[in-house]
Amino acid sequence: MSTLNGSSPRPPSAPRASTVTRTVRAGIGVDTTHRAVMPPIHLSTNYLFESPGVYGKYDYTRTANPTRDLAADAIAELEGGCGASVTSSGMSAIVAATRLLSSDDLLLAPRDCYGGSYRLFRHEADKGAYRVEFVDPWDPATRDLARELRPRMIWIETPSNPHLRITDIAAWAALAGEIGAICVADNTFLSPVNQRPLEHGADLVVHSTTKFLNGHSDIVGGAVVAADEDLLEEVAWWTNAMGLSGSPFDAYLTLRGMRTLHARSRVHEENALRVVDVLAASDVVTRVNHPSLPTHPGHEIARRQQTGWGSLVSFELRGGRAAVEAFVDGITHFALAESLGGVESLVTHPWTMTHASMDEPARVAAGIGQGLLRLSVGIEAAEDLVADLERALQRTEEAASVAAL
Ligand SMILES: *Cc1c(COP(=O)(O)O)cnc(C)c1O
Repeated sequence: MSTLNGSSPRPPSAPRASTVTRTVRAGIGVDTTHRAVMPPIHLSTNYLFESPGVYGKYDYTRTANPTRDLAADAIAELEGGCGASVTSSGMSAIVAATRLLSSDDLLLAPRDCYGGSYRLFRHEADKGAYRVEFVDPWDPATRDLARELRPRMIWIETPSNPHLRITDIAAWAALAGEIGAICVADNTFLSPVNQRPLEHGADLVVHSTTKFLNGHSDIVGGAVVAADEDLLEEVAWWTNAMGLSGSPFDAYLTLRGMRTLHARSRVHEENALRVVDVLAASDVVTRVNHPSLPTHPGHEIARRQQTGWGSLVSFELRGGRAAVEAFVDGITHFALAESLGGVESLVTHPWTMTHASMDEPARVAAGIGQGLLRLSVGIEAAEDLVADLERALQRTEEAASVAAL
């Protein structure tokens, strides 16, 4: 089992380094075979037994692997958890977390949660794995409803996808404590640099490490971080039993990506704030969603519980689908693709892409219209992104005025 900061030994008098330093230096200097500075990657499936029934820390890679353990320790460190299970995808992390539910248990999930989570919860519930209720957790009135419904698990995703609605983690975690529920936060959208749900009382944090933690859009992976040993053990048990563990190679890349997470996050945020300004000033944009905006309904809660604003921005274009086509046609530095959190800027059309697996009434109920776009702002030069956006918005406006003639 992975231990928090279980990597390099340090003299007893050395001051405990900051999280940034420990993440940059995770696993450095642990190789006793060749004294490699960077930790070597261990791809081996299996490990030697000393004699029948006698083996060391590792026996089989699905169960545990040294490279994956290093990544798990670094993620747990960043989130302030006692340990983590590193899984093959964000969805497998979500599967591992929801394995803690029995068939009679109720899962309370956000109506506008990640499309893949929505699909999984819905279909698992249809199969009788557990019961699910979709609610609006950003609305404080929903907490009264939750007290009546007595869920076993409360699922939080804040900011939400794609509206960037903010849910009060501390309030929900307190309620979960009151009714004996497990509070899970999907922290994919912000990463632990910008928000640490365990510090606000959540019991588990799930991640799609595919996004900010790896940060280079070249793996699919996930993680579940636990606040205490009992939960960690249960999640790790299911991860192993169901074969949800991540590959060592992906864990290696994720750890490599995490070393620069803090540095990347600064540029992501700087650029996102510039992008928000450009969108807010445009006539074809009817609405901009970003928690940094004082007009954003979750602004005050975000200020309290987040340590950064994040670099996901969504906005509504006047002119619906036709405007979206014109905008996407006119943009060059934002690639039309799914996913988020990589170094590269992306534009996503939730209606046809991330949320296409939701049926139309569910999309409408979640407030996802045809004119909605989501940006994942990357770390390119801000002036290039700004110029590109201004051009695309100009083009959208021209297309709209031609259509109006
Ligand atoms: C991408 C994503 C997931 C799913 O992760 P995968 O790595 O694609 O399986 C879950 N939650 C959120 C918020 C995501 O953005």
